[in-house]
Amino acid sequence: MNSKIDDVMQNKNYGDFGSVTYTEKTRAVIKVQDGCDRFCSYCIIPYARGRVRSRLPENIIKEIEKIAKEGIKEVVITGIHVASYGKDFKEKFKLIDLLEKINEIEGIERIRLGSIEPLLITREFIERITKLDKICHHFHLSLQSGCTQTLERMNRRYSAEEFEIIVERLRKAYSDVILTTDIIVGFPQETEKEFEITYKFLEKIKFYKMHIFKYSPRKGTKAAKMEGQINGDIKELRSKKLLELSILNETEYLKSYVGKEVEVLFEEFDGEYYKGHTANYIMVKTKSNEELSNRIKKVKISQIDNINLIGI
Ligand code: SF4
Repeated sequence: MNSKIDDVMQNKNYGDFGSVTYTEKTRAVIKVQDGCDRFCSYCIIPYARGRVRSRLPENIIKEIEKIAKEGIKEVVITGIHVASYGKDFKEKFKLIDLLEKINEIEGIERIRLGSIEPLLITREFIERITKLDKICHHFHLSLQSGCTQTLERMNRRYSAEEFEIIVERLRKAYSDVILTTDIIVGFPQETEKEFEITYKFLEKIKFYKMHIFKYSPRKGTKAAKMEGQINGDIKELRSKKLLELSILNETEYLKSYVGKEVEVLFEEFDGEYYKGHTANYIMVKTKSNEELSNRIKKVKISQIDNINLIGI
């Protein structure tokens, strides 16, 4: 065990609240921290869940070593605000230090990051993460809005321009990177003009998928008390527009895979097809006479079926 981890371990104030949640036979979700100190103006989490608390690296590593021995090949590293991992430790030990340790664990073949705050992606982070061969080239960056003024009211601490630089960094680092995001529509005082700016920004960034949320006030938050709450019909319309854009992007991405060879970790058999995901999180189905569950196999994409890629 690295001395840095030993040092962190000396700090007895940090407990272990985590446990593994199995999502499929091949993948496990590992919660590495709880709480958040960011206070986005619409979010109740910092009040409800409290300040950042990180699990000790040694406990996380032991847990992953154990599940790797049980045959799990992929871990998803999550938390309420995973970018803050280690912020509460006395000794410097950040998320990237933890990822480097996980990358060394025998049996684990893929490390996927759950939803992350864009500001995590610094130059230093990119420099170090690109050296880790098990990291999945799929990043879910919570953007929330493509308009800087709206972002300011949300207290998101980055501008649309800064977000674009972060996207460029990731796309430069990984040619096959897939980016997904969350967007809130109808945030208080979001004008038609602001929504238009967001729409244009999203057209430009071209995420693979977007999760669209219609703003809903949370009692006790700053945004709930803001003037200029947006009416439901407008939220509905804006949400519909962004969903259409998301489907358009997704279809375009999928089309670009036809004819390509991809590596898939097969997770389940539905009676007809084996289904699994590429490292950059695209769902692929294939027929096979061999048992493919929990195996990584290369397939060639022959066609698109609805929003799934079919491999042979
Ligand atoms: S939206 Fe995320 S970053 Fe912002 S306060 Fe809530 S949990 Fe924290």
